[in-house]
Amino acid sequence: MSDHYPILIVGGGTAGITVAARLNLIEEAPEVGLIEPSDKHYYQPIWTLVGGGVVKREVSVRPEADYIPERTTWIRDAVADFDPEHNAVTTESGKRLTYDVLVVAPGIKLDWDKVKGLRETIGKDGVCSNYSFDTVNSTWKFLDGLSEGHAIFTFPSTPIKCGGAPQKIMWLAEDLFRRKGIRDKVRVTFASSTAAIFGVPHYAKTLAKLVEQRDVHTHFERNLIEVRPSSREAVFESIKEQKEEELVLKYDVLHVTPPQCAPDFIRRSPLADADGWVDVDMYTTQHNTYPNVFSLGDASSLPNAKTGAAVRKQAPVTVANLMAYLNGDELKARYNGYASCPLVTGYGRLILAEFGYDGKVMETFPFDQSQERYSMWVLKLYGLPSMYWNGMLRGRM
Ligand code: FAD
Repeated sequence: MSDHYPILIVGGGTAGITVAARLNLIEEAPEVGLIEPSDKHYYQPIWTLVGGGVVKREVSVRPEADYIPERTTWIRDAVADFDPEHNAVTTESGKRLTYDVLVVAPGIKLDWDKVKGLRETIGKDGVCSNYSFDTVNSTWKFLDGLSEGHAIFTFPSTPIKCGGAPQKIMWLAEDLFRRKGIRDKVRVTFASSTAAIFGVPHYAKTLAKLVEQRDVHTHFERNLIEVRPSSREAVFESIKEQKEEELVLKYDVLHVTPPQCAPDFIRRSPLADADGWVDVDMYTTQHNTYPNVFSLGDASSLPNAKTGAAVRKQAPVTVANLMAYLNGDELKARYNGYASCPLVTGYGRLILAEFGYDGKVMETFPFDQSQERYSMWVLKLYGLPSMYWNGMLRGRM
């Protein structure tokens, strides 16, 4: 059995739905098929505020069916294999689907098993994570339940989605302890594989000052490799050039950002680059070997900060270029690496980082966005979710 779609999209998350919605608004666009196994769509950026007790996790989820555009056929299945030589994919249920153009957007894999003891402990005994719908409630439960001790926030040594998220929850926690009058009884530690608090110096300057002012302990170039629930110990390897000894820290709350990688079915496919990501041109989003394949979002090799904000700027480029490809025209649209990271630094405080390739600062507002602002917090809490559900996923922004 074989079904043919002129445009076939793999993944109906942020990137897949945004591309489908944009195509839906183009009258001359051909038929679109979208393969997505989940009947739920998640707005993941709000999980930071769920973990911080600001909103309930239910606000982050809506039925996938409500966001499948009118002229798109939803294939409720998961892709298992790619056969780009024959313009075909095979699904887990054994269906073979063919295409003229393929858009690959299945997101990133959370690799819980890469940290010894993590899968068995997550959500229990103080170990939590904002990184999935299933675990995000445990973050608020453990942070709110803490009266004294040590709260540790980790950042793994792999690429991750939203590079700011590991510290956003730390700033919320730090503020929470202060507001509850227990800040002097809780030690707050950021243990990160990165070499500095943030990759873009314009924003790192402010954040480094906050680290001092708010008495945050830091361990940089440290990667979590093991969680020992019985002794409540977190074990970190050194990833410095001159390797140091393992660091073992006792925790009462351990917020883990799990290691992440390209999904297995992408990694083992002919579409992958050496690191496992879908191998595309960093400006056009077109595959480097198969010209009728495009990719965007977290699964792509695009060297930007992996965020939904980046997808917002990638999607119009992918759509313009795939339509040009179908029409036999030159691919003219270019993505400049734009990404945005709303760095929550406390309740009612936020630094809106916006930058492109090579850390080039690309701010929207006519003021210095490297400073904490209440207005940007309001944007994160109310503006961005509404922009996402009503604008981006409808192909309108
Ligand atoms: P996803 O939105 O994850 O979608 C991937 C889709 O592919 C899923 O629906 C999945 O079911 C589907 N899929 C998987 N496997 C298959 C398969 N085999 N076949 C077919 N479909 C498949 N971004 C921001 O811009 N700002 C933020 O403040 C922000 N904060 C974040 C905080 C947290 C805690 C997290 C976890 C993420 C945050 N992000 C933020 C990142 C943002 O959510 C992602 O970068 C964005 O969702 C990526 O879009 P995507 O379409 O590539 O992947």
